[in-house]
Amino acid sequence: MSESLVRLLSNFVDGRFRDPDGGEYLDDLNPATGEVIARIPRSAASDVDEAARAARSAFEGEWGRTNSMDRAALLDKIADGIEGRADELANLESQDSGKPIQLARSVDIPRAVANFRFFAGAVRHDSTTCHSMSDALNYTLRRPLGVAGLITPWNLPLYLLSWKTAPALGVGNAVIAKPSELTPLTASALAEIIDDVGLPAGAFNLVHGLGSEAGQAIVEDERVDMISFTGGTATGAVVARTAAPKFKKLSLELGGKNPTLVFADADLDLAIEGACRAGFLNQGQICLCGSRILVERKILDSFVTGLVERVRDLEPGDPSLPETRMGALVSAAHRDKIEGYVSLARDEGGTILCGGSRPKLPGRLARGAFFQPTVVVGLSPTCRTSTEEIFGPVVTVHPFDSEEEAIDIANGVRYGLAASLWTRDLVRAHRISAALESGMVWVNTWLKRDLRVPFGGMKDSGVGREGGWLSLDAFSELRNVCIELGPLPYS
Ligand code: NAP
Repeated sequence: MSESLVRLLSNFVDGRFRDPDGGEYLDDLNPATGEVIARIPRSAASDVDEAARAARSAFEGEWGRTNSMDRAALLDKIADGIEGRADELANLESQDSGKPIQLARSVDIPRAVANFRFFAGAVRHDSTTCHSMSDALNYTLRRPLGVAGLITPWNLPLYLLSWKTAPALGVGNAVIAKPSELTPLTASALAEIIDDVGLPAGAFNLVHGLGSEAGQAIVEDERVDMISFTGGTATGAVVARTAAPKFKKLSLELGGKNPTLVFADADLDLAIEGACRAGFLNQGQICLCGSRILVERKILDSFVTGLVERVRDLEPGDPSLPETRMGALVSAAHRDKIEGYVSLARDEGGTILCGGSRPKLPGRLARGAFFQPTVVVGLSPTCRTSTEEIFGPVVTVHPFDSEEEAIDIANGVRYGLAASLWTRDLVRAHRISAALESGMVWVNTWLKRDLRVPFGGMKDSGVGREGGWLSLDAFSELRNVCIELGPLPYS
């Protein structure tokens, strides 16, 4: 891309687009081509300091005095603004992350719109509890926490940022957001949309930069009352270590190594299709992806044959073409990490049935961060490849002989985010769903999302739940008010 087409992004602080204090910028690359497509502020602690001052002052000022109906109307306007720029946003998301344009158009952007609309509705319909005593009345007040720090990863950039921003603003908090430095474009577009909608200055602030610098400064800042973090488990531990002694409220959505369990009584074609989608959607870079496929031994051969056939159809290609289903990985460094895991899989005794290397793509894609979708068999379910989060287009397949063994393998990792289960036996589905150590279980489906349901993981996959009322709770302080009424003429 020519120098003149490289965008120069700004921070959005106190209602204004601003350059970073230190004047330093980072390159933002299109991972499918390796070209620089933008330069983003490398924000320092002083930029975060300014954002925290602005957020605090908005919360204590005009923004803090808005009522929930007005805030709901603003969320709806933001949804309209995203919808009005949907094509442009899908292009930005695809260029920034390498994901197929078709996926950005059909999932990322519509879900960002849905998040704002959904939380507008939730705020409008919110109610809290009342507990009546014989001589007193308790009721619950929902109050905003103050300033919410929102830290998001690169895999679903606008989708996850909207998932946090909508309820945080809806409840009445001021926000400081820091997107991943790898995928900053749609976050900047969201700041433009929020600016157009006319939120009071300082209610929403966006600070670009590195996690270890801008992100860390947000978590450390005393004026930030809560942190909602989505990212890797190791980073989550750093965030928790920093925030806990300051008694900030924390919501942590972390990594996963999710099992797909396929029983012999499942509809084989549906299970193969489901396992393939769960393994490779967004190049396997969704926290909910099923990267460990556990298959009842009776159907192992036919399942694996069918899976490999389907996976071979997923040829990586140009993310900007509407027919592409498999795009680039988010960066060359991430591709190298995945390549390292495939080499580890070979060392650990695995057999690569398909993929396992970089594809050769022509022209401007030749230097892109592509990797072929890969199926590995023959590994122990306890080895590193089978238990560590790879977060890419690599699945391992493991046979099992009994329900107990399937549950043992499924639960035998440090993570507990999501699972999918393929069986026609309804009783078994209930039994296994209850036994799995997992925040979410899908039965005969995968990634079916209802925004009202609890979302989050157990074990090293996170702390807390968001989704529906739980998101409002995550961004709220619930206060009990107890009113002494004295002896009443009734009880
Ligand atoms: P990451 O490296 O942990 O980064 C996540 C965010 O944290 C980025 O914005 C990062 O900034 C920032 N960060 C890094 N160090 C920080 C620090 N010391 N303080 C504050 N912020 C800091 O994760 P990622 O590689 O972007 O995303 C992939 C991971 O996210 C995977 O493990 C995946 O499973 C997980 N994920 C989980 C969910 C879920 O709902 N459970 C959803 C999506 C993704 P920089 O990028 O600038 O370093």
